[in-house]
Amino acid sequence: MRNITVTIGAIALLAGCGVSTQQEVQMGQDEARQVNAQLPMVQDAQIQNYVNALGNRIARTTSRSDLNWQFQVVNSDVVNAFALPGGFVYVNRGVLARASNMSEVAGVLGHEIEHVVKRHSVKQMEQVQTANVGVGILCALTGVCQSGVAQAAINVGGTAVFAKFGRTDEIQADEGGFNNVIRAGISPRGMYTFFQKLLAEEQQSGGRGNTAAWFSDHPGTTDRIADIQRMLNQVPASTLNGLATNDGGFSSMKARLAQLAPAPRAPGE
Ligand SMILES: [Zn+2]
Repeated sequence: MRNITVTIGAIALLAGCGVSTQQEVQMGQDEARQVNAQLPMVQDAQIQNYVNALGNRIARTTSRSDLNWQFQVVNSDVVNAFALPGGFVYVNRGVLARASNMSEVAGVLGHEIEHVVKRHSVKQMEQVQTANVGVGILCALTGVCQSGVAQAAINVGGTAVFAKFGRTDEIQADEGGFNNVIRAGISPRGMYTFFQKLLAEEQQSGGRGNTAAWFSDHPGTTDRIADIQRMLNQVPASTLNGLATNDGGFSSMKARLAQLAPAPRAPGE
């Protein structure tokens, strides 16, 4: 899924002038439309509702609770999750299949939510455009940034829909995600156990299994697990014990998941 790219000329143009929240949401909506058209979604209301409700429960506790957060499940066994600007978060079926309890799913969602809270993909676009002086000048000279008429004029050349973040962004997303989950009354232990589970599967498959995409898109996982362990050690046991690890909806969701037809295989899988 990292291979899916779009031409985002208009978006790039906007980015060159600095991105407002309204533009960020517009950008996310445009990308989400393309993602929804290109990726298979799990066609099961119960599964989708469970993930959307859990995601919203966490996102509502953040500084960007005003966004119209939407969480969807992609019908793929590949273990991955990604976030578009403006609050559109996607988690693959492969994540749900490997999760043993609600807090493990929450850990992944909390991490993706933090990428949106910190506007990581927007900042990345702004950096790309800052480097592209030509775009900046065009922006200033023509004012097309407001009108968006030059949609086809500039092609940022295969910029991925799914921004690939560096280690610093990933660590930030872990740390913020960890706290997002706690604020929602959910144990952050699931983040730790889930990442460990992925690491074990990755090592067993020698980097050729369904977890490879996760490790490619989320660099530094091994170091980050140690970081999460350190954060866990700093939370008082009395606090941790008061946080939820599971809920009733999780087992119903897993039961529905087990009844689904096998996920379509991605090219090259
Ligand atoms: Zn990430």
